Amino acid sequence: MSTRSEALAAALEKLGLGSDGALVLHFPLRYEDETRLTPVAQARAGVPVQVEVEVTQAEVKLRPRRQLVVTAADDSGTVSLRFFNFYPSQQKQLAPGRRVRLFGDINPGFFGAEMLHPRVRSAGADTPLPDRLTPVYPTTAGLSQASLRRAIEEALQRVSLDDSLPAALRSRHALVPFADAVHALHHPRPGESLRDLDERLAPAWRRIKFDELLAQQISLKRAHDARRSRDAPVLATEGELLARFAGGLPFALTGAQRRAWAEIRADLAQHWPMQRLLQGDVGSGKTVVAALACLQAVESGHQAAFMAPTEILAEQHYRKLAAWFEPLGIRVAWLSGSLKARDKRAMKALIASGEAPVVVGTHALIEDAVSFDRLGLAVVDEQHRFGVRQRLALRAKAGGASPHQLMMSATPIPRTLAMSYYADLDVSVIDELPPGRTPVLTKLISATRRDQVVERVRDACAGGAQAYWVCPLIEESETLQLQTAIDTHTQLAAACEGLTVGLVHGRMKPDEKAAVMAAFVAGDVQLLVATTVIEVGVDVPNASLMVIEHAERFGLSQLHQLRGRVGRGTAESACVLLYEGPLSQTARERLRVIHAYTDGFMIAAEDLKLRGPGEFIGARQSGQPLLRFADLVLDEALVELAREAADTLLREDAAAADRHLARWLAGREELLKA
Ligand code: ADP
Ligand code: MG
Repeated sequence: MSTRSEALAAALEKLGLGSDGALVLHFPLRYEDETRLTPVAQARAGVPVQVEVEVTQAEVKLRPRRQLVVTAADDSGTVSLRFFNFYPSQQKQLAPGRRVRLFGDINPGFFGAEMLHPRVRSAGADTPLPDRLTPVYPTTAGLSQASLRRAIEEALQRVSLDDSLPAALRSRHALVPFADAVHALHHPRPGESLRDLDERLAPAWRRIKFDELLAQQISLKRAHDARRSRDAPVLATEGELLARFAGGLPFALTGAQRRAWAEIRADLAQHWPMQRLLQGDVGSGKTVVAALACLQAVESGHQAAFMAPTEILAEQHYRKLAAWFEPLGIRVAWLSGSLKARDKRAMKALIASGEAPVVVGTHALIEDAVSFDRLGLAVVDEQHRFGVRQRLALRAKAGGASPHQLMMSATPIPRTLAMSYYADLDVSVIDELPPGRTPVLTKLISATRRDQVVERVRDACAGGAQAYWVCPLIEESETLQLQTAIDTHTQLAAACEGLTVGLVHGRMKPDEKAAVMAAFVAGDVQLLVATTVIEVGVDVPNASLMVIEHAERFGLSQLHQLRGRVGRGTAESACVLLYEGPLSQTARERLRVIHAYTDGFMIAAEDLKLRGPGEFIGARQSGQPLLRFADLVLDEALVELAREAADTLLREDAAAADRHLARWLAGREELLKA
């Protein structure tokens, strides 16, 4: 057994491979076929091959850039090799007369066939070819494949590969033994199909993916049980306040809102903390459901905190809740980072004494200095905008007991994704829009017709409509984005004489933003030029028209969120997407989808296809995807099996479940806390 150098240990640690257990589960990214030799003349561009050649010439050139250029040949032809980084040992290996095996792509170059940085192995005339595929592992700078392979080999000698699954379970799901799967992936058998291995279709991969998913499911169920053993205030009421509130609303709840509320209400009455995600498309009416939950907390003698990710949105919630609750004699406090120190102190005092049973704010709410009297419920709007830590911080505000948590999101996450990225989360879905909404008409218009669009918007506003004009996203520069918004505002104000054109952007002071939004709500501003600060949650039912410039630069869910700002009232609404060509393939596809669908779930499904699940909210937030081998979309059937198996295992053999979890989640539990 060799002792690892410190550098090697550090590199392994960095990859999360500090233990033997982790090393044996570090499976190849792909495989290379070094079992065969290809004559140089038969290599095709873009297909990696192995050739065996003799070096005929080698020289270090200094221009245009220092490089080692080697000419080598087999019976069929000549190939030149080029290395921009090389060591003296490589020069020796590639001296004229040496025989080497090279692995890599052979491409046609200006001076004939060429290989750039091929992998080089010395070969005697009769060195046998390997009889199996060569694994290629994910690695990091400073950790060579060879050292990594050796570390894995050593770990395989030491670690037990006993099966964590009972034989019955294995045979029920047609799973190969764990040890076989591990060996098969690290040392593919001779003749194993490269394609099955690379595409992760081989039975060994199926077993590994199943195990990974099973570990996840077991851990989800454990977290679920753990939550049931935590204490939370029981928020159960006669519903007197609730009835008064509902009676005062100008509308009746939709069926979907009532269903979601019934689920939330039942959760609040339990003595363990609710952890529920309320999902509903933009405009589906999540706020009023959250308001009901707040009232239930208040009527039970507790406080409710309502947190939103942006100042505009928090302010809007504050106004809405204050208008709803103050007539019922419930004081609503407001807390944001932009409050003057004196006002902030006053608000904090109201919160600490419990005089304000409801508090609305931005993440100022989770600052250390804010303490609650009896926090019973934390509502987090647009929860995916917050980091994991911020959400946990609000939970910690309740002192001993955990508050109930209601998270809201308009970004529909397919169910399996939600389940897997958020440990232990119940989900309520509002899958119905309030009645009387007219669907938003979406138009794609080339930017070459922008002048006509300006005229139309001007005429509509002159006729009493209200419109948003959304300025393009400029990823490279926030300053440039700001400048564009200011220029657009100046230009539209000039083009729309007689109308009041407002401007709102992220760099404005919160009270300036609030003033502009208030003027827009009041109808004093007819056309509002905005950056994407209005993307999230803004609710101005009168606005019925939206123009989005450079729509091709926006993501699908962003376009959907933006478009959701109109079509909230009963007026006929339209959204004009101005685009500038030429469009990339994905931009074209995104515009097609947003034009074809209005349903957020359909759009999310298309988005998932375009971007893949890795990019989806949650994955990004927790920093690392939880799954290394299984794919929640491609392996959906396996997810189902794993869920079933987790139930069975926990019921019939809890010790096996523990062993399984220990093997798979060593050091990774933290990731499940999302
Ligand atoms: P979101 O789910 O996007 O947060 P909001 O809660 O902002 O949606 O609601 C959108 C608009 O619909 C608001 O103006 C709200 O008052 C209104 N609304 C909510 N529920 C109903 C309902 N059942 N009937 C009619 N209008 C409703
Ligand atoms: Mg909302």
